Amino acid sequence: MNLNDEVRPGGNRYVSGTEVLKDLPNYLAQFNQVAVVTGNKSYRVFNDFYQKELDFPVYRYEGSASYENAQEIADQIGQADVILGIGGGRVMDTAKLTAENLNCDVVLIPTLISNCAPFTPITAVYYPNRTFRCMGFQNRAPYLTLVDWEFLLKTPVDYFVAGIGDTLAKWYEITGITDTLNADQKTAYTRLGIACAKEIAAILLEDSQNAIQSLEQQEISPAFTRVTDTIIALAGETGGFAVSYGRSAGAHAVHDGLSYLENTHEALHGEKVAYGILVQLAYTHDFDKITEVYPFYEMIGLPTKLAQMNVTDISEEGLAPVVKQAAAEDDTFRMIDPAVTEEEIFAAIQAVEAL
Ligand SMILES: [Zn+2]
Repeated sequence: MNLNDEVRPGGNRYVSGTEVLKDLPNYLAQFNQVAVVTGNKSYRVFNDFYQKELDFPVYRYEGSASYENAQEIADQIGQADVILGIGGGRVMDTAKLTAENLNCDVVLIPTLISNCAPFTPITAVYYPNRTFRCMGFQNRAPYLTLVDWEFLLKTPVDYFVAGIGDTLAKWYEITGITDTLNADQKTAYTRLGIACAKEIAAILLEDSQNAIQSLEQQEISPAFTRVTDTIIALAGETGGFAVSYGRSAGAHAVHDGLSYLENTHEALHGEKVAYGILVQLAYTHDFDKITEVYPFYEMIGLPTKLAQMNVTDISEEGLAPVVKQAAAEDDTFRMIDPAVTEEEIFAAIQAVEAL
């Protein structure tokens, strides 16, 4: 049994639209014991919008999305037949882990548009000290994901842009991994994953500018709803279908490396990943693809230089922790090139910085 290689298309039910949250009591009617898992800020944002008190016990996560915190919350709850998770990515993941511990269903309400945690049956698990631990695979997919477009207009623009950057990586990472495979090495599901990533890139490149404008003007537009569903739901399908071929590769390895620089801690996950796309493309000498996507980065405000993420020392010494992690045995640049070296990644970063 290899959990890494199982096809996991996504949640059980996905509902996106306007006035979705008005129906929350109907969606929960079949459950007898509901327990809410949320964060302080997320719950405030939710209550401001929802206006009615939820008549269920409420449990706050402590910010980590860790096995330890999920177990603590599960112990406090004792028994439930559904966990209602309300919040950002780490709250979603904590709610999924808590439901797994209680062997019950989970209903997820994202409070921002920035990642695929509300839909995918996979979690990013951290240690209580907030460093990354592993990917966790749940036995059950989320029972229901409720995506209310009007509510999600509360998403801060920088989170939305970062979500676009993170989701765009799906296309560049899956092509970086699968370009060298011959036809017989691609299963039906690998091909579906690639097709999914291609559609993701097409939607993001076409619609992002209008979607960001809609968010700034607090208006729901077709572009806004397409980009929202792409970031929250389609993003998880790439790896859900193409399994390890559709998950992290070079761009995420560069992100992992950048996290070792204190200065980048203010930068969002998707910003570091977006910069990592450029480094991965420089590594594979796909400079034509960089030229193609560069105007898009500038248009929507994704970083093209390290200085935009507060990194000013781009010397070999300054970037040593970055390339060390990005090229590490246990990181994912090896999906692009099993023989990757620190020197080559450093050279690719220099090439991006020189553009
Ligand atoms: Zn990511």
